[in-house]
Amino acid sequence: MRHPTNTPFSSTSFIVVLVFGMAIDVCLCFPGIPSSLMALPVLGYFSFDGNEFAAKDFGNQFHYLPSAVLHPKKVSDIAETIKHVWQMGPASTLTVAARGHGHSLQGQAQAPQGIVINMESLSGQEMQVHNGKLPYVDVSAGELWINILQECLKYGLAPKSWTDYLHLTVGGTLSNAGISGQAFRHGPQISNVHQLEVVTGKGEVVICSEEKNADLFHGVLGGLGQFGIITRARISLEPAPKMVKWIRVLYSDFSIFARDQEHLISAQNTFDYIEGLVIVNKTGLVNNWRSSFNPEDPEQASHFISDGKTLFCLELTKNFNPDEAANVDKEIKTLLSQLNYIPSTLFITEVTYLEFLDRVHAAELKLRTKGLWELPHPWLNLLVPKSNILSFTEGVFGSILTDTNNGPVLVYPVNKSKWDNRTSFVTPDEDIFYLVAFLPHAVPSSAENNGLQYLISLNNRILNFCEEAHLGVKQYLPHYTTQDEWKSHFGPRWEVFVQRKSAYDPLAILAPGQRIFQKAISIL
Ligand code: FAD
Repeated sequence: MRHPTNTPFSSTSFIVVLVFGMAIDVCLCFPGIPSSLMALPVLGYFSFDGNEFAAKDFGNQFHYLPSAVLHPKKVSDIAETIKHVWQMGPASTLTVAARGHGHSLQGQAQAPQGIVINMESLSGQEMQVHNGKLPYVDVSAGELWINILQECLKYGLAPKSWTDYLHLTVGGTLSNAGISGQAFRHGPQISNVHQLEVVTGKGEVVICSEEKNADLFHGVLGGLGQFGIITRARISLEPAPKMVKWIRVLYSDFSIFARDQEHLISAQNTFDYIEGLVIVNKTGLVNNWRSSFNPEDPEQASHFISDGKTLFCLELTKNFNPDEAANVDKEIKTLLSQLNYIPSTLFITEVTYLEFLDRVHAAELKLRTKGLWELPHPWLNLLVPKSNILSFTEGVFGSILTDTNNGPVLVYPVNKSKWDNRTSFVTPDEDIFYLVAFLPHAVPSSAENNGLQYLISLNNRILNFCEEAHLGVKQYLPHYTTQDEWKSHFGPRWEVFVQRKSAYDPLAILAPGQRIFQKAISIL
């Protein structure tokens, strides 16, 4: 079936390619591309105009228009399209990028002049929940995690590992890692998948798991879209609680805050979710962190004054069902008694499990009304080894970063034992490492400290500081511009990454927006 909006098309563009190490401008003319795509036997359709959405992402800094967008109906549409590009060989410049929900930060899901596959077109496919001894759900990779949660809750089940925000696709987060406050216990989302269906860079449809085609399975998990397009996933489930006690407490000393976090992620009996926030605010007005929470002791809480100090907010949850309500309070009291937070800063609230997991969407709706959601997001996510987290915080908070008014800064540790080092994901080489996430929004035209250029330069200062101090930091959702930087990111794992690329996507057709490999083009 062809969609009525398909229009005749001819692609003529100037790009820079490297020929024998020299950058030259080349005029590339491929008048045959659209007609050959239109001739493909797909059940969905291609669009050749109105594709501006595919040149946009959450980062809102990179905008590359594709030549075409495939809106697939079946996996076979994706396989046919990639096989076609593969068969065109190096004479064609065409590349292919899967686009999940487009929540990348630096154009990672874009394909300049190439084909973007709109994975959400597949998401209407049926989800199948298997409610056995080891429950799991089979889903389309274009499905949003929020929809999976809602479906699984009908069976009293839920996935185990999350991201803070659920309006992201399965394929998008599995291509990165999927990290949140449950990762200390369950590992990231890539540690909670049993099986995948993948279309490789040659257009082959492959089912893979620990037992079958294990190299491809591990390769695509955290593989930044380089080895194949994930089309279906089998995700591990657990019984879902109905309610959540959601707790926030403050610290003014990072070493005490970190010691408590590390104690909690290592303890047998502990909370269900453990994260942390940094509040750098020289004005001393720091009430956002507790705006929808209730103080445990209102009288004491009213006396707390921040004095403009840098504060560290520990965020915890304990899940429970209504018939366990009395016990859960006792358990929380015992767990909190082991911690050393500022006593007057204990704040608690109670919400449903769904409300808790979907909490960032509630914030999104508010930001949208203020026009702050569509702004550029120069985010920086780092993984810092435990042995260097004190040097990191001393160097960054309060000196490089002088306020956190433009967006949250998260800091929390995870256990490396829950990560599988056969996947493509690289972590710092220590048993515990911290996720540190700087999540600002920027006003493009501002010359103040909320301006895009200012925030980008702030990120560069943080990265330079980490490099000069040899802190062993890795980027999460990495962004580099040269292959040498990618080599250094992967370190000893680079060779495996390259081998996998040549096995599964030898022409470097897939995910060009990551800028790791460039498609080899033979110019006649
Ligand atoms: P896209 O941006 O569309 O794609 C990301 C990359 O994966 C691209 O290279 C794309 O080509 C590739 N890709 C997409 N689908 C597939 C597929 N099916 N097969 C192969 N490759 C594919 N991350 C966390 O880990 N934890 C968080 O708590 C967290 N919170 C976030 C909150 C917000 C508000 C936002 C905007 C992002 C957050 N992220 C978080 C980051 C998020 O996980 C990544 O940006 C993710 O890539 C977004 O998913 P997406 O579906 O929009 O993917």
